[in-house]
Amino acid sequence: MHCIFCQIVAGELAADIVYEDQDVVAFRDINPQAPHHILVIPRKHVSTVNEFAATDAELIGKLVLAAKSIGTELGIAEDGYRLVLNCGRDAGQTVYHVHLHLIAGRSMHWPPG
Ligand code: AMP
Repeated sequence: MHCIFCQIVAGELAADIVYEDQDVVAFRDINPQAPHHILVIPRKHVSTVNEFAATDAELIGKLVLAAKSIGTELGIAEDGYRLVLNCGRDAGQTVYHVHLHLIAGRSMHWPPG
């Protein structure tokens, strides 16, 4: 299976990794949309949020907690940040390995485009 984020997890594709533990890896987005743009991903391959199961509840929580830790580490927790999970075509998902976007460092608008 060809998945670029699985390749990053395996160390086969270079990435600017900012956090990792036994379940989660986080790295800087190659095409940042803000001064800070980090992708937080599960080590295991899950294509979209639709493929998450009830047994993944702890893993899903770990993605958010990792984002929180990174936000604190980067010093952006107080000013704030946006967490985004794009699921499928209409949301604009382009990489089919679940990834939580952590976007920060500028003020943002709502609703998103
Ligand atoms: P999405 O549109 O939600 O699927 O987001 C995919 C994100 O992955 C985009 O923001 C891309 O810029 C980013 N991306 C794609 N390839 C890489 C890569 N090799 N390293 C880091 N980020 C990547």
